Amino acid sequence: MDSSPTQTPREKLEAWLRYYDDLNLGAFYTDRRTMGKRPTKRAVENAPAALPAVRTAIASAPPKTALPVSVLPILSSPSLFEAIDRVEGDTLERTREDLGECTRCRLHEQRNKIVFGAGNSRAELVFVGEGPGHDEDMQGLPFVGRAGKLLTQMIEAMGLTREQVYICNVVKCRPPENRKPEDDEVATCSPYLYRQLDVIAPKAIVCLGGTAAQALLNTKDSLSRIRGTWFDYRNTKLLVTYHPAYLLRNPNAKGEVWKDLQKVMAHLGLKPKKAPR
Ligand code: URA
Repeated sequence: MDSSPTQTPREKLEAWLRYYDDLNLGAFYTDRRTMGKRPTKRAVENAPAALPAVRTAIASAPPKTALPVSVLPILSSPSLFEAIDRVEGDTLERTREDLGECTRCRLHEQRNKIVFGAGNSRAELVFVGEGPGHDEDMQGLPFVGRAGKLLTQMIEAMGLTREQVYICNVVKCRPPENRKPEDDEVATCSPYLYRQLDVIAPKAIVCLGGTAAQALLNTKDSLSRIRGTWFDYRNTKLLVTYHPAYLLRNPNAKGEVWKDLQKVMAHLGLKPKKAPR
């Protein structure tokens, strides 16, 4: 294995990973959202026991400052890290099985049902929301409450049905009182979202609101800065628009969302069936 005293911790980590890969020790699954940040104690503890050097290297990786929005799109070319956190032969069923009756973060304590996602596993379009609300938590299905009804109207206005698209959230358990998920909850749950997106391999992803955008673009930029333009997420076009719950409170923003969705329709070659209300 290449190693020199002048290597940065990141270079050392990459060299170790290449080395273990050469030894066929299998993929080392890491959380892309926490890359460049100092990892949580849990992430370090969860590194496979066979990889103590990797654990040490992760723990000593220096924090990375966020990229300014002007240099976005980000995540455009697969890095060594991205290549290894793809799960060979993955399926939605396997991802759901791996999630299991999850207790990895505090959100499990008050949830009723896990809301994994629903729709077409070969969808060309995936909508990603923030996290389940009350109705979703009761039914185990995404976007079935008031915001969900509006999302259905948006989908139908695009000339599609809910069955043709895939709908999921960043966190799979309802945050108490519908609060925003905390960073550590997003970090714990988002690997399952990444796997869902890798398996479905859609032509476009629509992030509904800032939480989804921040989780997938690894940015803290505000929604107003990133809404309505295309980004690249692992070679898939990703567009951020307002969350339907925001539209329920601010119906005047519906026009902007419709413009955003028309960009998605143009990319997918869709013609609107009816004007949205
Ligand atoms: N809001 C979300 O972000 N997701 C849902 O599933 C429902 C409401």
